[in-house]
Amino acid sequence: MSDDPTIFEQIVAGEIPARIVYETDTVAAFLDANPLAPGHTLVVPKDAYERLGELPDEIAADVWAAVQELTPRIESAVDADASNVGVNNGSAAGQEVPHVHVHIVPRFEGDGGRPIHAVAG
Ligand code: 5GP
Repeated sequence: MSDDPTIFEQIVAGEIPARIVYETDTVAAFLDANPLAPGHTLVVPKDAYERLGELPDEIAADVWAAVQELTPRIESAVDADASNVGVNNGSAAGQEVPHVHVHIVPRFEGDGGRPIHAVAG
């Protein structure tokens, strides 16, 4: 595995610009550069772990606490009706950035998008 910092580590370090919407000692969240919907947000551990199973329990808890806190706030901010919350865990599942990230994708009644269980359908 490469020792080069991931894109998300560079965002956390302020080396690549991003719209940071949440930050603690261990977790950051920022708007996705290619949003699937207004408010599409990525929640990441500040340290780079490639897969969910590599996350220490306490970091996983911090990431999930951020997801729980941010999801209703994002829905409210963009007046969404719901959201898809998910992780592409591994390249065969579509993971492009090798740094765990949780997508929060706001959804709107009648937006025509597919549910998360249909992504491989
Ligand atoms: P994945 O397919 O790995 O689950 O999703 C990676 C996500 O990261 C994509 O939605 C993509 O738009 C987003 N992304 C990739 N590079 C950047 C970047 O430099 N800045 C931001 N804000 N998002 C990025």
